[in-house]
Amino acid sequence: MNNPDNIPVQAIKGVGSRRAVLLQNLGIVSIGDLLRHYPRRHEDRRQVKDLAALVSGTTATVEVRVTGVEVLRPRRNLTVIRAAITDGTRQAVAVWFNQAYLLPLLRQNPDLVITGKPVVRAGKWELTVQQYEVIGRGDSLNTGRIVPFYPALAGLNQRFFRTLIYSALDFACQITDILPEDITSRYGLISLQEALRAIHFPQNFEELTLARKRLAFEELLLHQLALIRLKTYSRQLTGRQHCSNMEVISRFLKSLPFTLTGAQKKAIREVALDMAKPTSMFRLVQGDVGCGKTVVAAAAMVLAAASGWQAAFLTPTEILAEQHCRNLSTLLAPLGIRPVLLRGELPVAVRRQVLKDLSCGEAKVVVGTHALLSQGVNFACLSLAVIDEQHRFGVRQRAVLQQKGKHPDVLVMSATPIPRSLALTLYGDIDISVIDELPPGRSRVVTRFVEEADRKKVYEFLRQQVNLGRQAYVVCPMIDETENIEIRSAVQLADELSRGWLKGLRLGVLHGKMKPQDREKLMDEFCLGHVQVLVATTVVEVGLDVPNAAVMVIEGAERFGLAQLHQLRGRIGRGRWQSYCLMLGNPVSYEARERVRILTEISDGFLIAEADLRLRGPGDFFGTRQHGQPGWKIADPVADYLLALQARQEAERIAAFFGKETSHPYRNIMTAIENIFCTESWDKGV
Ligand code: ADP
Ligand code: MG
Repeated sequence: MNNPDNIPVQAIKGVGSRRAVLLQNLGIVSIGDLLRHYPRRHEDRRQVKDLAALVSGTTATVEVRVTGVEVLRPRRNLTVIRAAITDGTRQAVAVWFNQAYLLPLLRQNPDLVITGKPVVRAGKWELTVQQYEVIGRGDSLNTGRIVPFYPALAGLNQRFFRTLIYSALDFACQITDILPEDITSRYGLISLQEALRAIHFPQNFEELTLARKRLAFEELLLHQLALIRLKTYSRQLTGRQHCSNMEVISRFLKSLPFTLTGAQKKAIREVALDMAKPTSMFRLVQGDVGCGKTVVAAAAMVLAAASGWQAAFLTPTEILAEQHCRNLSTLLAPLGIRPVLLRGELPVAVRRQVLKDLSCGEAKVVVGTHALLSQGVNFACLSLAVIDEQHRFGVRQRAVLQQKGKHPDVLVMSATPIPRSLALTLYGDIDISVIDELPPGRSRVVTRFVEEADRKKVYEFLRQQVNLGRQAYVVCPMIDETENIEIRSAVQLADELSRGWLKGLRLGVLHGKMKPQDREKLMDEFCLGHVQVLVATTVVEVGLDVPNAAVMVIEGAERFGLAQLHQLRGRIGRGRWQSYCLMLGNPVSYEARERVRILTEISDGFLIAEADLRLRGPGDFFGTRQHGQPGWKIADPVADYLLALQARQEAERIAAFFGKETSHPYRNIMTAIENIFCTESWDKGV
């Protein structure tokens, strides 16, 4: 009754209907959901100094109020924000270089915690800011402790989330702990209640480590059990036997504008063989960014359509869905197959038509985001489910898609190269095709880190390349405040560049909150070369494919994880021109410097994945985790590899209790698993 999973968020003071809707956009409906909205990192603010305690040259964190802001443009290519700051007794100056986009933020929110290196200039302390955050006055949640930072804020800010979750913790004692005693004692796991408190507001980092381990273990265990259940229900049953007629495949291959690499041919052969079998396929196609996985998926979809059935292609972002739909339309046109697009926002009439075409079998191929998973989407006969960039989806999403057909074949595509044993832990019992060859004529992307002082050279170089006919991406840094500020900063950067270093070039701004039609128009213009420089938030990370783009500038490179940087870089080097990836930023920590170094030295995705594993190591969570992956709340199956193996062992043991009615200590876990597969909760959780 008092279970926080059944108490709506409105029960917390300060949450009215408007905020409840915003939270719902993040999938947060109950207090239980809030408690499980885990921070993506923490910052140690236990020892915030005042200005009196500054030591020249030693990085310090201070709590201040901004009393005035001025912007200087000492050179054409340099903007400096100088903010007068005070801690109540003393005055100092905080300095930001080339971040004029922060102006509105500083004017609206004068109270800040700032980390920076102080020097004395003209008799005054001056701090060059490395990090900053807005706080409230007389604040005990946002400073003076280890402070949590939350992912995805849906227009709300960090401070609000901290207050909200702090209040939600009052309800934590009522939450059901599903882990049985034998498991918690075997692995030394703390109680759920304790873990929930400590994951949000730890008193020290040891506590945080224990909390993370407890929560990650539970998540990995549920994942493993879900995999086992999925396998019991789908793999052993007979699936669709697709036509084994290779004639249609060779017709498809002949229609392509290029010749396949040996590795692509082999992968297509393996997929076609699987599909012709009466048992259902479950295969992972693994290959570095740009190796050409899409065409393998296209071949599989041709087989599904030729057999008279349907194929669905699930992608993590709308931009990617649109692009895949566009590319597949070209690839499949010679065979008379016309893919349809299903995404979140569609005009009602269009959506209704798509749903109708799917349910009557008229549409053979559909490309879509997780909108494909919602309840109203029905297929006449779904025989193939393709999941792109699968590391971004969890087992739940896969289960939902699979259950839209009768044991359809499943093809998973991933650019995150992982060792076989890890693949088994992630996906369960899966077959693997590896594409270990890039299409001919690709040259290695030249990758450099450039000091802020040479920022101008970076943009001059970009301009030269554009003048030679190439196109470019400029990726904006992730900002912890709200998404709106991230977007505003992208707009601001584009604006500055178009008035300054990139004057006269045609720029466009791409971000995650654009209206679909605006975004489509912009992407069309970029594909056609009308837009020469695309200034973007991290939405460009996965999958985009514009071969003429040969330059990428990554602003604030230290804020990205290694895998993310590699994915970003994968957007260039796709055509026949030499491509350049230029990272700007301020890598302070050891890990950040290592990431930048590794990226400049290594181009092979498999080696980068290994280095990433080494660098992050099991249990590291202070560094940059690969966040924002639907399906994974806290565990990182790559970095938590060892924990995942243990969870797998336990899952195999517990699985014996599936379907057993009598009382046993695993009842609560079983219920949790059944909930994952329960249709009614699908729409909410995806
Ligand atoms: P990824 O594996 O990253 O998904 P894509 O499937 O998007 O890669 O392919 C990257 C680009 O390479 C696309 O423009 C595609 O048309 C092209 N491509 C794929 N295979 C070949 C090939 N064998 N020869 C030449 N170009 C190819
Ligand atoms: Mg791809």
